[in-house]
Amino acid sequence: MDVALAKAWLDAAADAIAAQADQLTTLDAAIGDSDHGVNMNRGFGAVRTALAGAAPDGVGAVFTLAGSTLVSKVGGAAGPLYGSALRALGKSLPEGPEVDAAAFGAGLRAGLEALRKLGGAAPGDKTIVDAYLPAVDAYDAALREHAGDGDGGLGAAARAAAQAAAEGMRATVPLQARKGRASYLGERSIGHQDPGATSTWLIFQALADTAAP
Ligand code: ADP
Ligand code: MG
Ligand code: MG
Repeated sequence: MDVALAKAWLDAAADAIAAQADQLTTLDAAIGDSDHGVNMNRGFGAVRTALAGAAPDGVGAVFTLAGSTLVSKVGGAAGPLYGSALRALGKSLPEGPEVDAAAFGAGLRAGLEALRKLGGAAPGDKTIVDAYLPAVDAYDAALREHAGDGDGGLGAAARAAAQAAAEGMRATVPLQARKGRASYLGERSIGHQDPGATSTWLIFQALADTAAP
């Protein structure tokens, strides 16, 4: 993963979120306050602008800038959660214009840990964690199989992560929310797909589309 690929991933995520913003908001209308698409689109649009106007010298700096932008530009739960994850990813990476697939995977997990520390959600609470955790587990498992690939396994690991995020997202439907606004609904949150798990899938799918086109 180099600086160009890191930026291309975040641009692809911004594109996917813009295209699916109405769908994210519709999901949030069912169990939240109808703003997840608006929040995410505003945040990732600001990330796109920030990255276009900056020349980060390392991969870590790309993610640190993106994370700080999300934290400062997005109200609501998801902005600070994703922002903290991206900042932790950026800070965990070794300095330099390129990092290997293992370091990037460790960074994704550092991001998950920061997000969990901030939000306190456990697996099964019907949140971002339910897509993000299986994604990083699948990334690591695929990387062990594909470390000998030409790209060091990044493409295969990203594809596996996106598939696991999709499964985790779909598995939120029967869950009762225990964190965030949807938890106020109690049992009435059952039967709806979690908006944040859905945006997490979009972000991992964007990674797969960028790293393994
Ligand atoms: P808000 O709920 O403040 O309006 P958003 O609508 O942008 O914020 O984001 C809602 C999403 O945030 C939820 O669908 C859920 O996935 C995620 N979320 C909320 N609280 C938490 C938490 N404590 N940990 C992880 N994810 C959370
Ligand atoms: Mg909301
Ligand atoms: Mg809100």
